[in-house]
Amino acid sequence: MGKLIFLVLGIILAWRVLKWYRKSMTRKEPPPAGVAEDMVRCAHCGVHLPRSESHASSGRFFCSEEHLRLHR
Ligand SMILES: [Zn+2]
Repeated sequence: MGKLIFLVLGIILAWRVLKWYRKSMTRKEPPPAGVAEDMVRCAHCGVHLPRSESHASSGRFFCSEEHLRLHR
């Protein structure tokens, strides 16, 4: 019986440590992806925009499909 109580207390303690650990990890996380995202420059007009919104072609980035087409 004593072993069972010890086991349950151990599980509760482990769960609490895990919860605290996750919370501390969340606090240390860098700002949202949008803020830290790489900025690229349009090879045609020079405007800066996030990499995920750009159109890439042979190592160059463009702000729109039109500029990508015009640069070809
Ligand atoms: Zn452009």
